[in-house]
Amino acid sequence: MDLKYIKGIGEKRAEAFKKIGVNNLDDFAEFIPRDYIKKIKIFELKSNNDKLIAICGKVTNIKIPRKSNHPLIIHIEDETGIAEIPLFGGAEFRSKQFRMNQEFLFCGKPEFTFLSDYPRINYRDHLPVNLSDTNDREFLKYPFLPVYELPGELKKTWIKVLSLSKILFSAFKILSKESNVLNNEGIPPDILTNLKLINKKTAVLRINFPLTETDIEESRRRLAFEELFYLQILMSIRKVINKKENKGIIFEKDSCELYETFKNAIGFELTNSQVKVINEITEDMRSNSVMNRLLQGDVGSGKTVVALYSMLVAVKNGYQAAIMCPTEILAEQHYFSITKICEKLNITTELLTGSYKGKDKKIKYEKIESGEAQIIIGTHSLIQEKIKFKKLGFAVIDEQHKFGVIQRAKFKEKGLNPDMLIMTATPIPRTLSLAYYGDLDISTIDEMPKNRLPIKTFLRTNEEKSKVMEFIRNEINKGRQAFIVYPIIDESDKLDLKSAIKEYDYLRNIIFKNDEVGLLHGKMTQEEKESIMERFKQNDIKILVSTTVVEVGIDIPNATVMLVEEAQRYGLSQLHQLRGRIGRGAEQSYCILLTDNKSEETLERLKILCESNDGFKISEKDLELRGPGEFYGVKQSGEIYFSCTDLYKDKDLLELAKIHSEKIINEDCHLRMEKNQQIKENFLKKYQDSINLINVA
Ligand code: ADP
Ligand code: MG
Repeated sequence: MDLKYIKGIGEKRAEAFKKIGVNNLDDFAEFIPRDYIKKIKIFELKSNNDKLIAICGKVTNIKIPRKSNHPLIIHIEDETGIAEIPLFGGAEFRSKQFRMNQEFLFCGKPEFTFLSDYPRINYRDHLPVNLSDTNDREFLKYPFLPVYELPGELKKTWIKVLSLSKILFSAFKILSKESNVLNNEGIPPDILTNLKLINKKTAVLRINFPLTETDIEESRRRLAFEELFYLQILMSIRKVINKKENKGIIFEKDSCELYETFKNAIGFELTNSQVKVINEITEDMRSNSVMNRLLQGDVGSGKTVVALYSMLVAVKNGYQAAIMCPTEILAEQHYFSITKICEKLNITTELLTGSYKGKDKKIKYEKIESGEAQIIIGTHSLIQEKIKFKKLGFAVIDEQHKFGVIQRAKFKEKGLNPDMLIMTATPIPRTLSLAYYGDLDISTIDEMPKNRLPIKTFLRTNEEKSKVMEFIRNEINKGRQAFIVYPIIDESDKLDLKSAIKEYDYLRNIIFKNDEVGLLHGKMTQEEKESIMERFKQNDIKILVSTTVVEVGIDIPNATVMLVEEAQRYGLSQLHQLRGRIGRGAEQSYCILLTDNKSEETLERLKILCESNDGFKISEKDLELRGPGEFYGVKQSGEIYFSCTDLYKDKDLLELAKIHSEKIINEDCHLRMEKNQQIKENFLKKYQDSINLINVA
């Protein structure tokens, strides 16, 4: 049915709907409210409230103000009382929209003032209704009105909150009777019964027009389960097909001899956790399936040596291994620490970044191509077209969130089905890793090296800043170094940058005028950045004023202070990651979070950091407070988009979705069985790009 015939739409609005991808009635079935307006009786208007409410009644008074800048006042009466609604902006014109005794639905936020005799509503929207019309009467029976995103295209046609919810009401009325779209049940019936979930049709109708709050939650969870189920189907297919059909390298030699020499070369005891993940990785390497493993662990938990050992196993088996890092600074750092160990084991290493030009570059390319370089450490330069590896068998990505899916794939293509190890910057809550990395196997380091003193974290206000500076001076005098981080979230924000530079000048010229202060920000060239980092590493610079560019991977064991200005502007995981820059040496380290923000919520949030050094706990909390969209370190992949799922609340559903989808895919990974045809159809509708994946012969 053409949209324009639906009540309230017409030609113009139908065009607008088409522009946002709603071409026919069935497309409305995908609409999910972002919120609800509760419909109440006037006597229930009790106190100020920040939530939108709606009332329905007839106009009993239209007071045109004497002064033109005063609002027009409308009185609305239902069987329980009278409410007053001030309308600003052109009283004369606005008054023409209302007639006495005409019936309306009004929505807005309740507001009480001593200035009026009646409860007031802070106007948001209104809609004329006709109680002798059956459609209107039915529409008004529902106690919650759905609120949807209103794209610009729709706003242009004067569709507002209430008109859109009435349009959707008419649409769903027709859909429920005349269309099959709601009968296309997404979840296999045995799972529905097993998990006591309501059917799709009921869920869609109820989430849009609920009768009770329970309806909302029950339908939301039903639809969330479907989202998670198909996502897990996708993840399971990738995992199973990858394992079954791509034959990987068998790294047979995993000699104890290597392990012993390695242990001697690194100069410290591996933690139990490191040993555990090394075993998980090398077991994968011995098998003939391609490894795709995510290695997660808190900042400073020692992921690099784990990666290094695995690379050595590959080299011992006659293959090359490579590690790709997001920045040159990090690549160089890894190059130096890895080379130090490899020299003892007679293994050759090579560093490849964008900085090498001319002859140097050529020589490096040749060494990689001839196989003379056994372990290659680099940046994005590694995945350039020109680079050819002799025999790349093992590929590591450090700080994976800085790389996209395509870069990951390009890296893989440099070898012949190499085993891949993907490392994260910060711990990710289990739900997030299941949802976003469900196609990978996961190894977790959940223990810190024993020689670490836990970092002490404090919350301070600007009033106490001089004391804080004194404290930093003290640490500098003891020979330590400090980071001072400024909140430039968006490096192109000139104002922010200006204030960081101003503060830098102040620190350099006044507070720490006898010490070397350095500045590091994203607008500097790579060379400038590197020279600053190098000088900080050499302990030539004592205090590094910086934006969040320092946040990733840098290892400066002598730095013992991390001062974060305007800490409220960061997420918990990001702060934890920043804090991870210190506490890497034997001395006690301190993190100071500076904020003048008084909001209880902010303070509660920041206190979590003062009380815990546990990255997993912190990331759970971050997920709860800010949601996955804000989450630092999670791939922002277009393919994963939730409209009903709340990864924090729906943990249990995710686990269930995983179990049920795995069962189906383990039995029928190409979805060829008769009983799985409906799943296949729905799956391909959601993940069209996966068609090649399941259609291979
Ligand atoms: P991350 O997991 O954050 O990448 P790194 O691999 O950079 O951490 O390790 C941080 C520091 O801890 C490095 O200086 C590394 O040499 C050291 N380290 C790693 N494992 C151990 C261990 N078992 N005992 C002592 N120090 C360790
Ligand atoms: Mg690291």
